[in-house]
Amino acid sequence: MSEVKDTLIEELEKVKQKCFSCQKCSLAKTRTNIVFSGGIPNRKLMLIGEAPGYYEDKKGEPFVGKAGQLLDKIFASVGLSRENDVYICNTIKCRPPDNRDPLPEEKEACKEYLDAQIEILKPRIILLCGRVAVNSLLGTTQGITKIRGKWYAGPNNSKMMPIFHPSYLLRNDSREKGSPKWLMWQDIQEIKKVYSALEECSQKTLF
Ligand code: SF4
Repeated sequence: MSEVKDTLIEELEKVKQKCFSCQKCSLAKTRTNIVFSGGIPNRKLMLIGEAPGYYEDKKGEPFVGKAGQLLDKIFASVGLSRENDVYICNTIKCRPPDNRDPLPEEKEACKEYLDAQIEILKPRIILLCGRVAVNSLLGTTQGITKIRGKWYAGPNNSKMMPIFHPSYLLRNDSREKGSPKWLMWQDIQEIKKVYSALEECSQKTLF
């Protein structure tokens, strides 16, 4: 488990409050709730998803519904959880109507909130979950199948890895070698290995 100072929590709270009254793009007119973050503020592991969907918009939480349950199972398979280990947020904070992709101007308008979340927490590992997050953070339109599972240099000397979105995994049920679910299993083990190494490092610095 990773702890962050109260001052960082306060900084995140200030950004959240600003976000809650945000009218910077047209999604403000159609949202039910702002979806700012989920999980635990954590300086080691952040997951960035795409945009809130139907259930997220209703509840004001990221990754609820079937995709969220699968994400929890993937983390649990290596002993991680959103309650103890992962800070979760999205590229944009309001739901695009009919779950369409966010428009470039919406991503640009919302960028300051995601940038602030990254800058305040300075996570060591950032997981880019799905195409929209990959495009926003890596600036590439390459297919996720090609770039998933590899580490890329991220902000503040972090390591970023693109991973499949759980919605995609729900649509591809095979577990055979080489299938998306099998590849996700390889990726989550690699992520856990790097995460555990960070945990060991921080334990040593305590003594
Ligand atoms: S999507 Fe982002 S920029 Fe647009 S209204 Fe919501 S919080 Fe503001």
